[in-house]
Amino acid sequence: MESKLKNTPQHAPMDQFPNDNGILQLGGIPVTMLAERAGQTPFYAYDRQQITRRVQELRNTLPESIQIHYALKANPMPAVVQHMRGLVDGFDVASGGELRTALDSGMPATQISMAGPGKTDAELRQAIATGATLNLESANEMRRAQSIAEEMGVTARVAIRVNPDFVVKSSGMKMGGGAKPFGIDADQVPALLKDVGTTTLELTGLHIYWGSQSLNSQAIMEAHNKTFELALRLSEAGPCELQTLNIGGGLGIPYFPGETRLDLSPIAENLEQLVRGFKQKHPTTQIVMELGRYLVGEAGVYICKVIDIKESAGEKFIIVDGGLHHHLAASGNFGQVIRKNYPVAIATKMRATDTERASVAGPLCTPLDLLADKMELAKAEIGDLVAIFQSGAYGASASPERFLGHPTAVEMLV
Ligand SMILES: *Cc1c(COP(=O)(O)O)cnc(C)c1O
Repeated sequence: MESKLKNTPQHAPMDQFPNDNGILQLGGIPVTMLAERAGQTPFYAYDRQQITRRVQELRNTLPESIQIHYALKANPMPAVVQHMRGLVDGFDVASGGELRTALDSGMPATQISMAGPGKTDAELRQAIATGATLNLESANEMRRAQSIAEEMGVTARVAIRVNPDFVVKSSGMKMGGGAKPFGIDADQVPALLKDVGTTTLELTGLHIYWGSQSLNSQAIMEAHNKTFELALRLSEAGPCELQTLNIGGGLGIPYFPGETRLDLSPIAENLEQLVRGFKQKHPTTQIVMELGRYLVGEAGVYICKVIDIKESAGEKFIIVDGGLHHHLAASGNFGQVIRKNYPVAIATKMRATDTERASVAGPLCTPLDLLADKMELAKAEIGDLVAIFQSGAYGASASPERFLGHPTAVEMLV
């Protein structure tokens, strides 16, 4: 419900969800009924059909031989992970807790990998005992994994997480290139690979993660070119054939005004060629892409209720019962440099033509608790529901829910 002023950057249309008589619907259920089902506001609702469709579309577009892994970090809700279990080829976890959630879903441990720069001995033991693959982030971690495997009398499956020797521009979050706490610098990898071929460590492959949240097809294609180039170079130094090559993820979704959805087709065409070239030398290597927000982000909304409406110095404020304690990212405090608005709408007035400029503020006693800053919204009334779109990833689990002692948000997969 953005203003249609010329030259004002607009949010991408949130047309993944229909409305019935102006009431936003998820999974065919109006949000007013979802609020009854939740038993409260605020709540998160994730649309399982949307998730299914997103994975299917991705599979239809990408080269057939590429496996898709889901990174639980984006949304670790057990029901979502369980749903994903039937859709993707594997899971990537980044803690011992996520590993347990992943295993609870029934995903075979051989299809689970664990990354993270500060794995404790307890976490290494969990992964090694279950047979999950450890993405090693340092030479030290490799030695620790080795001695644990020796002590347990088992073989640890390990991959090397490579800190690539290239930087991807226009990646929302750069997670490779230059000095980084993640992975092992590409130039240190060949020496390390020579040591891996021991009896207690089984080297399964390489994990090359260059960044997150990119909406630039060109930049992603360049990242893929460099990733395959690096993988070809490093694989020469390895003691054995790579079972897997994890080429990272990085596909973004549009959050802010002016951002548009990614066009996957050039990315897929480029990958088709890269995979063909790589497979000529390494026909048995399984290529994996690991994605979080791209699979679940657009399928979720955060819904809260209008508690009060007021005016201050000529500005309209809509006060709601939800805020940054449930949705840090929408408040602009999860890694944003300049605060920008998520797509927000009055979920019970989706067809209203009567709009006004208003800000949506949460219940917390801090000016940071702002869910929309001077947006053009339908004229709201007390009791209306407010929807924050693009909230299926990095929502509930990435927010400081204990801050100020308000109730937690309910999460539902519908
Ligand atoms: C954060 C992260 C992901 C998921 O990133 P998205 O932007 O949600 O796709 C995947 N893999 C690793 C190693 C990560 O750190």
